[in-house]
Formats: sequence, C-alpha cells, structure tokens
Amino acid sequence: MINIKSLKELELMRAAGNIVAETHEKLKEVIKPGISTMELDTIAEEYIRKCGAIPAFKGYEGFPASICTSINEQVVHGIPGAVILKDGDIIGIDIGAVFKGYYGDAARSYGVGTITDIAQKLIDVTKESFFKGIEYAVEGNRLSDIGFAIQQYVEQQGFSVVRDLVGHGIGTRMHEEPQVPNYGPKGKGPRLVSGMTLAIEPMVNEGRFHVKVLTDGWTVVTADGKLSAHYENTIAITKSTPEILTML
Ligand code: MG
Repeated sequence: MINIKSLKELELMRAAGNIVAETHEKLKEVIKPGISTMELDTIAEEYIRKCGAIPAFKGYEGFPASICTSINEQVVHGIPGAVILKDGDIIGIDIGAVFKGYYGDAARSYGVGTITDIAQKLIDVTKESFFKGIEYAVEGNRLSDIGFAIQQYVEQQGFSVVRDLVGHGIGTRMHEEPQVPNYGPKGKGPRLVSGMTLAIEPMVNEGRFHVKVLTDGWTVVTADGKLSAHYENTIAITKSTPEILTML
C-alpha cells in the first residue's frame, strides 16, 4: 500500500528534508583532497543531531555509519572510514535523517579537486537525469513514466542505469512502497497521486549497468570497475511540478 501524506505529514517531511539538504551543503564545503570519509561522516552526524534529528542510516540493517560515501567505481552504500579523498576522485554522498518520525533522503555526487571530462559528464548527466525523470512525477501519470524518462536520457548520453537498486517511497519509514526503478517501459505501475512521497535516485554507470557487492556486505561497485555516480532527492507528488523536499 502506498501511503498518501496529509498536509501535516508533508510539513514534517519538509523539515526532515531540509535538514538533509543543509547537511549536504555543509559537506560540499569540505570535500577536497586530504579529507577522510570518516571526517565527512562525523561532520554530517554532528549537524543532523544539532538539528534535533537522527542519522537515518546509522544502524539501519546494521549499517555502521551516518552517511554513505561511495568513491569512483563504488555505486552506493560505501562505508566511511580512514580512506582519504584525493585529487581526481569522484564521490557520492548519501544522507538520510529522521525528524519527529519522518524521513528525508538525498544523494549528491562531487568531483574532488580536478576530475576528468568524462567523470564530470557522468556527474552532470546523473543529476540531469533526476530532473528529466521528475518531469513525469505528476499526479495522473504512471510510476514507470519516471524511470523510462531517466533511462532514455542516460542512454542517449552514452551511460547506463543500474538495475539492481531502485528508488522508493518514503515517509515514516525510509523505504516504503512503491519501488521506483530508474529504467523500464512507460505507462506501468500505480497512478501517481498528490501526497505520495518518493525518493528518486538514479545511479548511473560510465560503462555497463552490472554491479556487485563487496565482501563488507554493503559497498556496491560496478562490475567492470568503471565510474558510477548517484543523485537523489525526496519529492512530493502534486497536481503539477513535484515539490523537492531535500533541496534548499
Ligand atoms: Mg534512497
């Protein structure tokens, strides 16, 4: 069952989303060569808690950190640690926060120092594919219209869309129904209704779409070892343009 949020619930999701967006802004300022992913995790956790919220990922199915940091060929769910960012890396940062029982979830990808043109294009296409997708995230459309638009755009740009991981409904739990694939045919799945809240999160690979999980049980990497980027926002469906809850 897809939960439709009341206006009061949307207000709380807006607050949670705002905390996630602000945390991303804090990290954006400090992402440079020489900082460790553990330092990023600490900055994020401290800020989220200062806002009166809880890092949503910490302890989620045993995840050991507050944010996910996924470098280069890592797609998602990378675990912060001693690794130091270096010039030319790309990093995906995924942040979740719970505020008064409601979740916000968003991811951004950045270049560290000077990156290659193809890495920059991958980051740009991944972000743009989110915006292409949400053009269809409007009341009355079908859920799969979103993923169809994302896949079409990404493949036109010469990249591929990860199949094994998908976006999701979100609200009083981080993962609610429905699942939101970033690929597939249009015109399928439930009709979108105002008050649905979805985390739309294209994961885009430089090479082929296949991925695998490292032996840490979390880190998802590209099977071919090429780069991957991630971009995500929590949105609310309306009768027209969706409201993006995790952007300032
Ligand atoms: Mg998500």
